[in-house]
Amino acid sequence: MNILVINCGSSSLKFQLIDSESEQVSAKGLCERIGIAGSRLVYQKAGADKQVSEAPMPDHKAAIRMVIGALTDRETGVVTSLSQIGAVGHRIVHGGERFAASVLLDDDVTEAIEACSGLAPLHNPANLTGIRACRELMPDTPMAAVFDTAFHQTMPQEAYLYGIPYDCYEKYGIRRYGFHGTSHSYVSKRAAQVMGRDLATLKLIVCHLGNGASVSAVRYGKSVDTSMGLTPLEGLIMGTRSGDMDPAIIEFIAHQEGKTLAEVMEILNKESGVLGLSGGLSSDFRDLEDAYCREMPEGIRAIKTFVYRVAKYIGAYTAAMNGVDGICFTAGLGENSPLIRSLVCEYLGYLGVRLDQEQNQKRGQDTVISTPDSGTAVLVIPTNEELAIAREAAALLQK
Ligand code: ADP
Repeated sequence: MNILVINCGSSSLKFQLIDSESEQVSAKGLCERIGIAGSRLVYQKAGADKQVSEAPMPDHKAAIRMVIGALTDRETGVVTSLSQIGAVGHRIVHGGERFAASVLLDDDVTEAIEACSGLAPLHNPANLTGIRACRELMPDTPMAAVFDTAFHQTMPQEAYLYGIPYDCYEKYGIRRYGFHGTSHSYVSKRAAQVMGRDLATLKLIVCHLGNGASVSAVRYGKSVDTSMGLTPLEGLIMGTRSGDMDPAIIEFIAHQEGKTLAEVMEILNKESGVLGLSGGLSSDFRDLEDAYCREMPEGIRAIKTFVYRVAKYIGAYTAAMNGVDGICFTAGLGENSPLIRSLVCEYLGYLGVRLDQEQNQKRGQDTVISTPDSGTAVLVIPTNEELAIAREAAALLQK
């Protein structure tokens, strides 16, 4: 069955058409600048060159119409009609406590996603516009909602509560939710396969290191802790997000610089992380690694601080699970950066970690990068959130 996977942002929409049997992507692409001048569709059929079509897309409905047009186009399309798309899988950022698993979309579910919007005011409304547009244009096609937060709903209370008045949890749902759940779940399952072990017997730590970054502790197949919190701002130092810090810093900066709360939050979300640490040099690790290798203090500072935070989380989660069998690296940086992986592993002598330097040079494929005699296995597992969403949608339809 062809499954259309949709990941909707406020002004963008990414899509992939995946055959659930062969798990091959037949076409994929991206609508950019939706609702802004200069909107365009980048479309790529498997094995063909990318095509760019500029056309006005005043809203997400217009964007989905363009996507359907491209997928069913006589020359460049991959299906002859909409009826050949068996289901749509939507990536939804926040499912609150309501969703601990993927679900088929109906009016109730759509309303519940709307009710979670207060927890993710930038993301859920954008996801909802995609859902509504698809439901209007494809009213007969079943749709699944797959949540970034769902996998982490197994965290125990001691891991998800903050040390603030319990009222705040009861009244407003302030707690750790965690994100990147689809990726952490996919990678932990795949790691067990690569290790030739049953997931239900393994303690794994998954480091999803991209522009947004998070670590999770996955014990016996279930998430028991993760570094992102109520929002994706907590945890690791990221491309432009601060990650963990003393909350009093917010008031301090506001006071010192005469800024509003919203302005300080903008700094913490958009101007911090390795971008901020490198004095504005770059949020892209390729630039920072280049600066690190040329011994520029900006690059050294950003990378060392980033790596140290990752290593601290690995230590914390090893303690939380009373041991660890495998440490997995994934996402843009985790999959592609031998330097970052080896710098993190330098901290892991206490786990008996020994890196195979040759294996560590490999990119973009499932690889065990530790030596056979390493005390703990270290793996690179490329994540594939779109495939995971397609699998979830197919499984729901089979039920
Ligand atoms: P997101 O999905 O959160 O936007 P990605 O998972 O695509 O992010 O990861 C983006 C990050 O991965 C960027 O910082 C980029 O520099 C880094 N990255 C990608 N390729 C490489 C590479 N070859 N070497 C080092 N870093 C890389």
